[in-house]
Amino acid sequence: MSRLERTMNRYRSLRCSGIADELQELVAHAEANAVSYLDFAEQLAEREQQVRERKRLAGNRKRAQLPPGKQLEDFDYRHQTTITKRQVHALLDFGFIDNRQNLVFIGPPGVGKTHLAVGIADKALDAGYKVLFRNALELVEELELAEMKGELKKKIAQLTRFDLLVIDELGYLPMSRQARYTLFQLVHAFYEYRSLILTTNKDFTDWGEFFHHDNVAVPIIDRVIHHSSIYMLGGESYRLREKTTAG
Ligand code: ADP
Ligand code: MG
Repeated sequence: MSRLERTMNRYRSLRCSGIADELQELVAHAEANAVSYLDFAEQLAEREQQVRERKRLAGNRKRAQLPPGKQLEDFDYRHQTTITKRQVHALLDFGFIDNRQNLVFIGPPGVGKTHLAVGIADKALDAGYKVLFRNALELVEELELAEMKGELKKKIAQLTRFDLLVIDELGYLPMSRQARYTLFQLVHAFYEYRSLILTTNKDFTDWGEFFHHDNVAVPIIDRVIHHSSIYMLGGESYRLREKTTAG
């Protein structure tokens, strides 16, 4: 084994595979260019940091489970005129995540709610945030399963490790009392701690109905809504459009 190989192995055993993989090139470059010791030391550290950051982002992206094909670049604001590009791009400094605020996209089917939610989540991943995408019903099934195993708290704790949870299609179908309870526990755990993006076809006046006027859940949902930026997306529905201009 050459000295170079032995050194590479040492870096690998120190879990510095970024340095190990590039060592030959870095050394050759340093020798050819009379790179200073300090510059060389810096280059090694930089290389390792870059590789680790890239891996971290790739891992975050894999865990996020975003549905494919909904890039923000592909969103057509000439088609969807009830939200502007300026409004959407203003969200991409991710102040809403840093401040534990939520986004809610409300509107009838097909107006681009999921596309926007996923497009924003995709950019949050690029910016280094930990994101998870879930359809509301799938999420509730997961929570109910955890509840049955007596592991709801643990499951919710796992979910709060994400900076941003996208819950898609909330309120499309009625949920059992048990389902609403688990969902409520989750929303409560996220309150002022982590961010949510919700997409829903419900108007907020329906939230009380959704939680069956539950006098614990409704006030908390109200507080969540108060920590949210709400975007009413139209297209077909005049009912929603009128509400937007009124509100
Ligand atoms: P919603 O979630 O409001 O029901 P989606 O976001 O799923 O709607 O949009 C339905 C389909 O139309 C998706 O394939 C989405 O990518 C596309 N779409 C919707 N609005 C736009 C838009 N303004 N520009 C480009 N594609 C759009
Ligand atoms: Mg949708």
